[in-house]
Amino acid sequence: MIMADGESIQECFGAGRTTFSVEFFPPKDEAAADRMLRAAEDLRPYRPDFVSITYGAGGGTRETTMRYARALKEDLGFEVMPHLTCVGHTKEELLEILGEFREAGFRAVMALRGDPPKGEDSFSAVEGGFSHADELVSLARAHFPEFSIGVAGYPEKHPEASDFASDVTHLANKVSCGADFVTTQLFFDNASYFSFVGSCRAGGIEAPVLPGLLPVGSLSQIKRFCAMCGATLPDELTCRLEAAGDDSSAVRQVGADWAYGQLAELLDRGAPGFHIYCLNKSKVVIEALERLRADGRFRAE
Ligand SMILES: Cc1cc2nc3c(=O)[nH]c(=O)nc-3n(C[C@H](O)[C@H](O)[C@H](O)COP(=O)(O)OP(=O)(O)OC[C@H]3O[C@@H](n4cnc5c(N)ncnc54)[C@H](O)[C@@H]3O)c2cc1C
Repeated sequence: MIMADGESIQECFGAGRTTFSVEFFPPKDEAAADRMLRAAEDLRPYRPDFVSITYGAGGGTRETTMRYARALKEDLGFEVMPHLTCVGHTKEELLEILGEFREAGFRAVMALRGDPPKGEDSFSAVEGGFSHADELVSLARAHFPEFSIGVAGYPEKHPEASDFASDVTHLANKVSCGADFVTTQLFFDNASYFSFVGSCRAGGIEAPVLPGLLPVGSLSQIKRFCAMCGATLPDELTCRLEAAGDDSSAVRQVGADWAYGQLAELLDRGAPGFHIYCLNKSKVVIEALERLRADGRFRAE
């Protein structure tokens, strides 16, 4: 980690370095937990400024998020930003969870609304709960002023948003409510990121917008994710992955090449850093990072 002791995430952005974060999800069983922790260990030499761990998504629960957030902090020494969603929680419960985060020594939270629970096609707040992430941001900012707060942004628009402009207006509102930075949904065409950042700036959002990238390790998996989150999978990437077929190392090579190409251009054109959706695996991520390191774009010293 290269964040100085006691440095907050927003101070890290302010220092003008390449901010690097990695996202994990809570594993479902002990074998998966071993794999996740091994991947985290493999990525440690690349010194992420912070790592995050999802909440609720993919079956994770309050307990598993907390358990593995602690493991990442206490066993591996990472600065950890747990995610928190409004799904199924009252305001009081959210306050309690934020308090548990503080007690465990976390100093940051990714504040999200969350997706509708399985089987429901639209989001509805529980009684006494929140309908949108802005309310969670306001709550966290009011009660935990020392926290760094991240929020989600969507270069290709959130799937539920009626149009791009209103989605950016809602993002601006999350920032006005107290968010310090934005991490984007995954995307595979940098043009969508640069255009999104332009819209954010035009909409009055000055907070850093950290691009979120997923180095692809499987075509079927990435097709599923894109269908879920509304990201576009470029035809060219699909063709290259199809050509790699069942050869997992060839697929990884395609994924790493694509991610490297995206990262190199993002850094060259002034992105504040990058966030990696590593899916609890390290190989393809390391292949992309090594290439960035070799050409002096990243942690080359
Ligand atoms: C970086 C990142 C991390 C994520 N981590 C997780 C995770 O850990 N767990 C998980 O379950 N999901 C996670 N997600 C997915 C996320 O929960 C979903 O995309 C969810 O559908 C929206 O969450 P949000 O915080 O963006 O919601 P919101 O900001 O509330 O936005 C949801 C929709 O409502 C609109 N909107 C926002 N505010 C208002 C308002 N005040 N009034 C009316 N409309 C409004 C927006 O335009 C958007 O269409 C993550 C996404 C990203 C990009």
